[in-house]
Amino acid sequence: MLIPTPMPSAASALPVSVEDQQELFTTLLDGSNQAILIHDRLEPLYANRKFARLLGFETPEEVIALGWLDDLIPIQRLVRAFVIWSRILESGQAVTLTEVRGLNRQGAEIFVDVHTRPIQWQGRTVVFSSLYDVTARARAKRELERSYLRYRQLAESAHDVFWDMSADGRLTHVEGGDDLGHAFSLCLGDRWIDHVPVDARDDAMVAAIDAALTAGRAFRSETIPFDLGPLGRRLIEMNGVPVRDERDRLIGFRGTFRDETGAEQARREGELQRNLAALGRVSGGVAHEINNLLQPILTFSRLAADRADNERDREAMQTVLASARQARDIVRTVLEFARPRSPGGVATIADPVEVIDREIRILATQAPLVRLTVSHTPGCNRPILGGPGELGQIVANLLKNAFEAMEGQGGVTLSTATHPDGNALELCIADTGPGMTETVRARVFEPFFTTKEFGKGTGLGLSIVYGIVRRWGGTIRCDSFPGAGTRFTLVLPYVTRQNAVEENSKSG
Ligand code: ADP
Ligand code: MG
Repeated sequence: MLIPTPMPSAASALPVSVEDQQELFTTLLDGSNQAILIHDRLEPLYANRKFARLLGFETPEEVIALGWLDDLIPIQRLVRAFVIWSRILESGQAVTLTEVRGLNRQGAEIFVDVHTRPIQWQGRTVVFSSLYDVTARARAKRELERSYLRYRQLAESAHDVFWDMSADGRLTHVEGGDDLGHAFSLCLGDRWIDHVPVDARDDAMVAAIDAALTAGRAFRSETIPFDLGPLGRRLIEMNGVPVRDERDRLIGFRGTFRDETGAEQARREGELQRNLAALGRVSGGVAHEINNLLQPILTFSRLAADRADNERDREAMQTVLASARQARDIVRTVLEFARPRSPGGVATIADPVEVIDREIRILATQAPLVRLTVSHTPGCNRPILGGPGELGQIVANLLKNAFEAMEGQGGVTLSTATHPDGNALELCIADTGPGMTETVRARVFEPFFTTKEFGKGTGLGLSIVYGIVRRWGGTIRCDSFPGAGTRFTLVLPYVTRQNAVEENSKSG
């Protein structure tokens, strides 16, 4: 009954009965290490023990008793299974399918490689299949795919950029990190160092990374400024580990870029504020003492100059007086800087544009050769938090710096507009002066930081501006590049019902 035809021709040389042949056949197939099934379009005609066990049955008879194998094929695969079988039957060719998904009798998923070929059997063409259980391999592969997918999703959702680099420090692959990733993808093929601006390079740190790259060591950097096309300058933390081939030769590095610009700025800002507060207290105390001592010097040197009976003495006294006046001006600036928040909290300025324009009219006479362009966007002139005198001082300090930087020539643009978030006045003062190096730009708000010669600058102008703007709850930023001019952008909060109440309760 269960005899495929034709039987091997060698067998016919032996004098064996049909029963013997059948015995031999079932012994061979039953003892086989392969799972074997003979079926006619899913109707099982023969199954060996291995097949029965593979599919969770006790005996082959249970498989035959099913009469129909569709329970063992996931429903979405049935049509495809039929198509394949009919193709096998039509073509008469063997077909191998790998990692075919099936279900065992308990409904659990299994994977098999299936070799099928048509055979003639009891006068009809049926399919002979041998199956290899590859469930473990397929599961491992799927698990790997899943974990790769997890990693991919992680990489895509993370803010970090994952990078690969050749051993000589060229970016060969970047992934993840949205905008940052996109910006770094424009650097592919370049050496990382090519995107670290020379004017802002920390040579010691670059040398340390270079040493790690050469030695094939893992490294972790502090923030490094990178010029990243569409994103401009960003502060990036760079971590990397060496990648080696099977023979342990260094083939490159792999790691992450993390954008620390915001965090780093917040850190610097915090540091600056603490410095300002501490310096304010110290210098305020000193300035107060000096101011007291200056009063008699001013008074009596003026008197002495008036009463001098010869020209030489008068000139000498006038020099003393001039120096004392200059000292008084500096001391006033220091007191201005050191002054704690004005009593009574923050006031309001009803018409900031008016205050700004008045200050410009006063200042413009000081630099007649400078082209001054002023523009106010309609609708932006709404009350802001702050005091009119201080706003005047802000404009004066910024304009004076611009005039001084340009040495009286060039162009200054002052513009006001409503900040994009709608809650603040944005004031921009830009000049076409020489600009600043990154090292200078990073320190401009520091009290007593000046690049001007002794007697010309106190280094307090911008720290005063900074202190005022922060007290009003606003922000100030400075963009400047050597040769490309300087721009200060101030964001000064409008008065809202909310912050007006807050300020009143602070002052009360
Ligand atoms: P000061 O003017 O007394 O030096 P500031 O606090 O006003 O002090 O400015 C600090 C420094 O910032 C200046 O010495 C100068 O180096 C730099 N700076 C400020 N504004 C500009 C500008 N518009 N262009 C170039 N450099 C500037
Ligand atoms: Mg100044």
